[in-house]
Amino acid sequence: LTEAEVLTFRRDFPILGETVGGHPLAYLDSAATSQKPRAVLDAERDFLERRNSAVHRGAHTLAAEATEEFEEARATVAAFVGADPGEIVWTSNATEGINLVAYALSNAAYGDGDPALAIAPGDELVVTELEHHANLIPWQQLARRTGAVLRHLPVDDEGALRLDLIGDVITDRTRVVAVSHVSNVIGIVNPIAELVAAAHAVGAIVVLDACQSAPHIPLDVRALDVDIAVFSGHKMLGPTGVGVLYGKRALLERLPPFLTGGSMITTVTLERAEFLPPPQRFEAGTQRVSQAIGLAAAVRYLDAIGMPRIAAHDRRLGRRLVEGLAAVSGVRVLGSATAERVGLAGFDLAGVHPHDLGQFLDDRGIAIRVGHHCAQPLHRRLGLTASSRASTALYTTDDEVERFLIAVADAAGFFGVRP
Ligand code: PMP
Repeated sequence: LTEAEVLTFRRDFPILGETVGGHPLAYLDSAATSQKPRAVLDAERDFLERRNSAVHRGAHTLAAEATEEFEEARATVAAFVGADPGEIVWTSNATEGINLVAYALSNAAYGDGDPALAIAPGDELVVTELEHHANLIPWQQLARRTGAVLRHLPVDDEGALRLDLIGDVITDRTRVVAVSHVSNVIGIVNPIAELVAAAHAVGAIVVLDACQSAPHIPLDVRALDVDIAVFSGHKMLGPTGVGVLYGKRALLERLPPFLTGGSMITTVTLERAEFLPPPQRFEAGTQRVSQAIGLAAAVRYLDAIGMPRIAAHDRRLGRRLVEGLAAVSGVRVLGSATAERVGLAGFDLAGVHPHDLGQFLDDRGIAIRVGHHCAQPLHRRLGLTASSRASTALYTTDDEVERFLIAVADAAGFFGVRP
């Protein structure tokens, strides 16, 4: 993207014109949540003002229009990731998507869905050492509920997955391999193909946490051949309150529901219920209609620019962040400087607590994320309790990145950092 294009896109994002403490806002926290263009805000407002209605119910005109738009939104999101609409389940966010799969797998033991999917004592679930807590704790809990064993693929000193250990960690007993496409702490794209090959060789399903890839790089679930993928709308220009669960159709058809209630059944007696096929089987209760429509508008916005171009922009800014940070004395950039990375750089400034750095930058209108980023095990492995993270989006300018780099260098001076 050229600087002129980025400046044009920025006019679509009202919040980017805000000032913080008298400084123009430099929003470098898109990995936590992205900002929303007017197209998304307008799509939600237009729906709520003119067509708001519950979907899949009622014979009236608004209900029919809302249902049509809701299903169109599903098709738009499906096309964005290379899936069929029937393979897309709406969730609240990625967290709910992962919990849905983990609970559905244990529910299989009660006779719903395909009992062959049930996780049994001694089965193994595999995560990696760099997962967000959202892709760790649901598997810990599944292991506790079922007597399965949770194993992990370690990372090396730089946070890269230890592919040399795949053969030790993924075994004949492995049933699930859960991995993030891109780490939310170090921004490196993980080697998914190797993990998928190893998992499928032993009949395990692969659950991909695509939260940090969907906004940044083209995501093709079929090309990746993952069985499940989840992501959150709010990180990819869409609204909060909506997430996406992709599942291969054949798997979703075997998977029992997680949440049960209205809108997911065919017949109900006082004793039992028959469930609808996917995706409705997984969408109990009144749906997040305006949010799904908002997310479809976000996807159209991203598509109009083109994910390959957005990826190139993020990659370039990511490289500049890493190179600029590495030049500041006392900064340790997390993750290899040469690995494929999105527009995200995690780092530590020697002896300065990330919260103090965050405050220093905030005084200049620069927003970054500080803390453990919901990845305590990875921080522990890297010898840290917390870190700082700057992340970009298609609306991030070179100027904002330079302002941030100057501010970090100034902070190093201010806090008396010694390399
Ligand atoms: N996984 C990763 C890699 C993330 O970055 C996040 C959000 N920080 C999540 C999962 C959870 O997303 P959400 O809170 O929207 O469910």
